[in-house]
Amino acid sequence: MSQESIYVTQPVLPELAEFIPYLEQIWKNKILTNCGPLHQQLEKELCEYLGVDYISLFNNGTIALVTALQALGLEQGEVITTPYTFVATAHSIVWNKLTPVFVDIDPQTSNIDPVKVEQAITDKTVAILPVHCYGIPCDVEVLQNIATKHNLKLIYDAAHAFGVRYQGQSLLNYGDLSVMSFHATKVFNTFEGGAIVCHSVEMKQRIDRLKNFGIVNESIIDDISLNGKLSEVHAALGLLQLKSIDSTLLARKKIDEMYRNGLAGISGIYCIKRPSLEKDNYSYFPIVISKPYPLRRDELFEKLKLNGIFARKYFYPIMTDLAIYKEYQSDTPEAKLLSEGVLCLPLYPNLSLDSVQKIIDLIKDN
Ligand SMILES: *Cc1c(COP(=O)(O)O)cnc(C)c1O
Repeated sequence: MSQESIYVTQPVLPELAEFIPYLEQIWKNKILTNCGPLHQQLEKELCEYLGVDYISLFNNGTIALVTALQALGLEQGEVITTPYTFVATAHSIVWNKLTPVFVDIDPQTSNIDPVKVEQAITDKTVAILPVHCYGIPCDVEVLQNIATKHNLKLIYDAAHAFGVRYQGQSLLNYGDLSVMSFHATKVFNTFEGGAIVCHSVEMKQRIDRLKNFGIVNESIIDDISLNGKLSEVHAALGLLQLKSIDSTLLARKKIDEMYRNGLAGISGIYCIKRPSLEKDNYSYFPIVISKPYPLRRDELFEKLKLNGIFARKYFYPIMTDLAIYKEYQSDTPEAKLLSEGVLCLPLYPNLSLDSVQKIIDLIKDN
């Protein structure tokens, strides 16, 4: 019996034929990178689509995170962040020779708990780096008040938050900087890619210098920084992806609804709630497995796998349980509990509703 494997995600791609004219343009004008015309056009179109003032494109979200911390002039001290995230969040802090301080999450939202943030502030704290986990907005007003009161920088890891609108504006407008990822697994992809959203032309110019080795002009180099530029081929894909983003989000919404209805009422299966947003991106479908559901999380994960369904334990393990972050350990029981019960189900525009039903049935039938 053959069955096609279903993975937790599958990248959206335009028709190859639509991509060719962009490649022909690149071959013709011989501009491959260094903020060429397609790069500039994508920055402009993203600003319009997302409703933000300034965007600086990057070759990936991780380099963008590293550069965001550098752009704010954070050279030493503690950065308060969440342990319930992808490793790049924490790595970006340590790469900047800053000290990550992991505080616990609010299990309802999976986002950092502002009360715990404020408790963790010391005279060494320089910044807060929360994650809009699964695209669910952090408690942005409260976090901004804390940052303002204690004179701290506030940088959002918005890798999951593409397109989300909150309180009448882009979620990316909150904080000093927001960092996006356009990795193949994300809602909007440019093969690999990322971006920083900022709020002034001076900051954009600084970020643009930092992503280009710190070069100011032919004879002046003012910073020791990385090469974070997005190539023209990547930018071209972004321009095409943007044309279909609304249908991408609509397809995701339908699958989210089907899971939510189909899994409602199974005891021990909890679908993490999404707040009602002006615009959501349905970037993940995390469920939490607990008693009285007859299988433990890992058992359900294995059962799905035997049926060709590759769900993902996202996020597991948490940062504070990784040996590499041993010296930054702290007690974050809510994050640990969630990471031990969570499973992200397959969710991508090309996933058929029959497959969604099959996954629901497999979870139900125990
Ligand atoms: C994907 C992701 C990143 C890293 O982005 P890349 O573009 O893969 O470097 C950072 N933080 C979070 C929360 C992510 O999910």
